[in-house]
Amino acid sequence: MTIMITGATGQLGRLIITELLQKIPASQLIAGVRNPDKAAGLQQSGVEIRMADYDVPESLDSAFRTISRLLLISSPHQDDTVRLLQHKRVIDAARRAGVEHIFYTGFAFSHQGSPDNVHTLTEQAIADSGLKYTFLRNALYLDFINVLGLQEAISSGVLLTSPGEWRFNSVTRRDLAQATAAVLLSNQHDHPSYEFTAPQAWTFHDLAEALSERAGKTVVHREDPGIQHWIYNYLASINTSATTSDLERWIGRPVTPLKKSIADFVIAGQK
Ligand code: NAP
Repeated sequence: MTIMITGATGQLGRLIITELLQKIPASQLIAGVRNPDKAAGLQQSGVEIRMADYDVPESLDSAFRTISRLLLISSPHQDDTVRLLQHKRVIDAARRAGVEHIFYTGFAFSHQGSPDNVHTLTEQAIADSGLKYTFLRNALYLDFINVLGLQEAISSGVLLTSPGEWRFNSVTRRDLAQATAAVLLSNQHDHPSYEFTAPQAWTFHDLAEALSERAGKTVVHREDPGIQHWIYNYLASINTSATTSDLERWIGRPVTPLKKSIADFVIAGQK
């Protein structure tokens, strides 16, 4: 069995490859990359590098030869029309190359939103392709908390957020990568899709508590109508609150607790 990860030089792709390398030999893994110059580290781990640019169909045709399982990591392009075109090129090339099973990283609960969102349309194109498939719908990465002013909250002792009934199913990329690797290696593919979210939604109050524990000083949460940031419009446009136990089942342990997860986003020891 050979497994290819597209977008392998990205943050999620690299983490998935690291997880897979703990379970299978590098000879079974192929990294699909847009820019081979960024893949030196991956090459050192013994993984074969193949050029697989979503904008260059010929690169996809040759990259997907001999691949049994293909993980399509969704494109980061800003324009969803372009993204969908890129994904369709990958799906078409996978079909032409005889890929056995395609896995796609979409967005949690996107199928419950507008039917013309890029993830639902990509999933439809995959279902229509005749390929075997599994949809791995990822929660919003925890990284979004980076724009909330965590360092300022620690300094001032107050985490200020825009008013609202905010609830979050966000988790770390690392947890998502571990679950993705487990699905890629499994032979149990009777479920067409998974919603990889935290098992319970957390709130800004929980985040303030986690900041307090991390910083060793009290940080309280307060809503402030004066807080303006584009992130709140984005958060309001997606489902960040629905949860399932899919992620925990696939990683075989509880998701990383908020207090530990936020370590990457706050400077240790700052008070
Ligand atoms: P990332 O670090 O930005 O990585 C994106 C990867 O896509 C990179 O390897 C990039 O290659 C590659 N890429 C860009 N254009 C390409 C093309 N034309 N052909 C082939 N590969 C191309 O993103 P990530 O953090 O790993 O996240 C993975 C995906 O999740 C993103 O692409 C995005 O669709 C989605 N996403 C999800 C969330 C969430 O909260 N769930 C948040 C942000 C994004 P280079 O290294 O050459 O640039």
